[in-house]
Amino acid sequence: MPHAVPKLNAFPVFVRVEGEAVAIVGGGDEALAKARLIGQSSAVLRIIAQNAEPELLAFIAQSGASHVAAAYDASQLVGAVMAFAASGDEALDRRVAADARRLGIPVNAVDRPELCDFFTPALVNRAPVAIAIGTEGAGPVLAQLLRSSIDQMLSPSLGSLATLAASLRGAAEKLLPKGNARRRFWSSFFQGAPAHAVEAGQLSQAHDAAVDLLLSNAPASGHIALVGAGPGAEDLLTLRAHRLLMEADVIVHDALVPEAVVAMGRRDAERLPVGKRKGCHTKSQAEINALLVELGQQGKRVVRLKSGDPLVFGRAGEEMAALRDAGIAYEVVPGVTAAFAAAADFELPLTLRGVSSSMVFTTGHDLKGNSLPDWAKLAISGATVAVYMGRSVAAEVAGRLIEAGLSPDTAVAVVENASLANRRRFHGTLADLPSLEARGDLSGPVMTIIGDAVAGANFERSEPLAAHRHDDLGHEGAAIAATERVQP
Ligand code: SAH
Repeated sequence: MPHAVPKLNAFPVFVRVEGEAVAIVGGGDEALAKARLIGQSSAVLRIIAQNAEPELLAFIAQSGASHVAAAYDASQLVGAVMAFAASGDEALDRRVAADARRLGIPVNAVDRPELCDFFTPALVNRAPVAIAIGTEGAGPVLAQLLRSSIDQMLSPSLGSLATLAASLRGAAEKLLPKGNARRRFWSSFFQGAPAHAVEAGQLSQAHDAAVDLLLSNAPASGHIALVGAGPGAEDLLTLRAHRLLMEADVIVHDALVPEAVVAMGRRDAERLPVGKRKGCHTKSQAEINALLVELGQQGKRVVRLKSGDPLVFGRAGEEMAALRDAGIAYEVVPGVTAAFAAAADFELPLTLRGVSSSMVFTTGHDLKGNSLPDWAKLAISGATVAVYMGRSVAAEVAGRLIEAGLSPDTAVAVVENASLANRRRFHGTLADLPSLEARGDLSGPVMTIIGDAVAGANFERSEPLAAHRHDDLGHEGAAIAATERVQP
């Protein structure tokens, strides 16, 4: 049996206050808090306080509220559309509430729910859009938590977009038949070119785009956001990435992006995993490019979610080229790249005054052939080197760098699953690095950082890389260790 949805005891409504008086009785903090809240509207504040505290006086002066600096009297409430009993004095608040009610003015008495006709919400203000949060006494802390998470979800430019929408409503009603066409227009307006232009602060372009949309009534044009999901921890996602995820029709993601991040998308968004983990390519890059183009042509809003930063070893270059060629709009949202997450996990300064002032993002996979890649020279001249996808080529990387003249004693830090709860940290020297390849106990992505700056990291929570050579060489090593133990 479906269980009944509990009933609300206080129902939210929006009260018209433009140009109307709102009376607040009280001179202290409670009155100031209500004044600040109502001050977010275009109501005319009438603050009734014989003895207003300095902060309230400052608020009155700066907001242009009217101030009745006299002992309270019921006549001062007349004409107000709402009244607040916020004196902090129970007897006076009761009197104010009774007077207001007699005058037919809805009243709120601070901290005395039994005297209240209405409650004030926690407010997310993107005027003209407002989101009011009420908890019926479950507590202001809950309301504030909700408020801040909703606040983060909404673009700061939402208000401007809504204002633009309001200015076009009449035209849309005239030009577009009610029903699907009108709905399609508004949906493209709020998610398509006009919204993007408002977001970028280009109001006149937004207006033009909206008019184009209105006149063409063409099917919604697609949009692809190449979004960095960060190294894995959900809270290392950017607010922008989060918002785009919430708006996406389709989320196309790599295998390295954890489920928890993908799950931040709309519940009804289509989710397309496209693999790309070492050894299990479910789709080729060309197939992924084609998929993005196709989704764009269908008018979908797509988030192409990539681990770390999309422009670092993310093959975003190929995807952007395909989208450009097909004339599909796209944008790029940066993310926290694995090297930064690994450095943070190790408290490792990537640049270190007097030691290292440049940094290389590289992969060990360009070491084939005889000539040393450019980055090897940079490493020798002191750059900090971050090696992506370097586990299976650890020995090659170490060998070539040593051969090129980098000291075998150069410090090395390795992080598996950087930023995640199950991360593992290892430290050692370039000479120890080859041991990484043989380990069977690392199944997550691995970041290797090499250079003198690594010596500035915190090694308190890391294991020595070298230890592995002696006691954990897979089956063979274990067998040797066991043999050693049984020998007298
Ligand atoms: N665009 C990604 C890199 C993709 S290449 C970024 O900016 O981070 C994949 C490689 O990234 C992995 O082989 C590994 O070297 C590194 N990587 C990704 N996530 C990682 C993590 N949480 N911890 C350690 N390395 C990671």
